[in-house]
Amino acid sequence: MELFLEKPKEMKIREMEPLADPVGDEVKIRVIYGGICGSDVGVYLGKLKHAVYPLRPGHELVGTVIHAGPDASVEVGARVVILPNTFCGECSYCRNGDTNICERKKSLGVNMDGGFSQEFLISSKYVLPLPDDLPNEKAVLIEPFAVVVHAFKKVKITKETTVCIIGCGNEGMLAAALAHHLGARVTAVDINPHKLELVKQIGDIRAVLPEDLAHESRRFDVVIEAGGTSSSVENGIQLVRPGGSMVVIGLAPEAILPVAYVVRNELTLYGTIIYNFPSDYLQTIEYLRDPHFCVDAIVSSIMPFTSFQQAFENALTGNYGKIILSFNGV
Ligand SMILES: [Zn+2]
Ligand SMILES: [Zn+2]
Repeated sequence: MELFLEKPKEMKIREMEPLADPVGDEVKIRVIYGGICGSDVGVYLGKLKHAVYPLRPGHELVGTVIHAGPDASVEVGARVVILPNTFCGECSYCRNGDTNICERKKSLGVNMDGGFSQEFLISSKYVLPLPDDLPNEKAVLIEPFAVVVHAFKKVKITKETTVCIIGCGNEGMLAAALAHHLGARVTAVDINPHKLELVKQIGDIRAVLPEDLAHESRRFDVVIEAGGTSSSVENGIQLVRPGGSMVVIGLAPEAILPVAYVVRNELTLYGTIIYNFPSDYLQTIEYLRDPHFCVDAIVSSIMPFTSFQQAFENALTGNYGKIILSFNGV
């Protein structure tokens, strides 16, 4: 069985054609968990410009290898996480290790079929075995969390760094958790009070509405923009202290920037997209293995994939943390 979008807003569940045996370096994955991402919601609503329908959504995937082709690099029985963005390995960016900006990149669940299914085939180039001590509930966060781990490499965040996270969606929550884990002094901003309550559960994090910050003169060493709207970018840049940085993870189509303010205060603006593979995945796994790194507040629920309608409706409200679908009754 698989989830399937004939076109935006028409998601259904259907029987799949039996899968062929893996050939070459392919492996057959039995999916354990799939996380619902903001981009899955965007694909569902028809809001992602580069999405191609009909489409099977889903890219935050953990599963077990149940069949391996003769040239596969992983063995049957391995528990793995999926890299859902392809890379050619040959372009100048790939050769430099920057697989995230590969000229020929394609994205599972966006412009090629994703993994919201009980089983699927994929090249073993795009799977990474998991350490035994990493539970599935944490492993399913590797893909979205690697986005944050990669973004944090742009700046220096240590003890006492003041960090402001704008937008407490899944990426914002994970960014707040990582900044907190690194010992930073963290302020998180969201327009939704439900999200502020969730982010406070991570630890000692100040969680405020945008208007609360607007009344203060507080500035931050680092602003992480994960709201993805023009106003979150425009407000974010005002919150950077002279000499500080803003790292933009959100995908606001455009925003108006006060260039003279940026120049006069020597601000630095970083764009950052997904992660490099496998380096960022490996570092993300190390963070998640740390028992002190708590993700309980970030995962809201695990639901059977047959309840996808309810799961997507919940995700659409914007009131929840990460919602995970389970595909084989775990
Ligand atoms: Zn995602
Ligand atoms: Zn490439």
